Parts: sequence; C-alpha cells; structure tokens
Amino acid sequence: MQVFLSLGGNLGNTQEIFKACYPLIENKVGAILQQSSLYQTAAWGLQDQADFINQVILVETDLFPEAILVAIQAIEKDFGRERKVTWGPRTLDLDILFVDQQNIQTANLQVPHPHIQNRKFILIPMHEIAADYVHPGLKKTIAELLRESKDESAVNIIPHL
Ligand code: AMP
Repeated sequence: MQVFLSLGGNLGNTQEIFKACYPLIENKVGAILQQSSLYQTAAWGLQDQADFINQVILVETDLFPEAILVAIQAIEKDFGRERKVTWGPRTLDLDILFVDQQNIQTANLQVPHPHIQNRKFILIPMHEIAADYVHPGLKKTIAELLRESKDESAVNIIPHL
C-alpha cells in the first residue's frame, strides 16, 4: 500500500526533528518513496505561535491503516509531543493523508484526512510530489483542489541550504 503522510512542527529545531524521524518512519511504517520540499507556513487555527514547517512524504507500507496510526503516534511520542492545547505548538505532528484510494471512517481514523482540501500547507507540498493524485472522496486531483482552495495563508518553500 502507498500512504501519504504529512509532517508538521513548530517547536524546537523542526528540520532536525524531521531528519531524525525519517529512519523511524522507515523502520515502523515502510520505505520512503518520495519527499516534498520543506515549507514554512503560518500557524493555522491558533495564530499567536511560531510558524510551522510542513512536508508531505509518500511511504510504501504493508501495515493496515489502524497500524499505521499506532506507528505514527508512537513516533510522535518519541519526540515528546504533548497534546496540551488544540492546534497549539508541537514538536512533531504526523497525519495520514491518503492510503491508496481507500475511504476509512472509524472512531479514531478518517482517511482521506478530512481537512486536506482546506489547507494549503498540505496541498502545496503534496502537489509538488503528486499533483495528479485523485482524492478518492472528492474525485478531484490535488492540482484541482489546490486551484479551488480558499485558504489564503502563506506557504513558502524553504530553499535547500
Ligand atoms: P492531531 O492531534 O491533530 O494529530 O489528531 C490526532 C487524532 O486524530 C488522533 O486521536 C487520531 O485518532 C485522529 N485521526 C483521525 N484521522 C486521522 C488521520 N487520518 N491521521 C492521523 N490522525 C487521525
């Protein structure tokens, strides 16, 4: 199965945290096939906090979606993420965006992730690596969703050093 994951963080050295989490993702979830660039984005929801860094990656996995969720939550915990404030600062936030063309609606897992179409910090990095990927619920490509998105927030690519 191919799974798109979103990575985000705004607490600590996020670029280093991302680098450190790739081997854990490869270990617990599967091989990373593609990685978008890193993007700097204004905090969404709660605005009085540091900018976020976001990235989308494509991973090949043998795990069922529920097991992917358990694995990414264990990795988030490794980086000391605490859920104190909804939408508040976080060291590492991992979300499942898509799993192949599956639609999953359970108590603790919604795939596709319900907010993809509203968030440029997801659409822009995903567009970089998979512009033609069709959202299985909305039946539109990422390119179309990006064109139609009403999210006005700034999402800027971070140049490689
Ligand atoms: P957050 O704090 O934003 O990372 O949300 C985490 C919660 O969202 C967890 O309790 C998950 O059970 C739930 N959740 C639902 N759908 C997803 C998804 N596609 N990816 C990650 N977490 C999800």
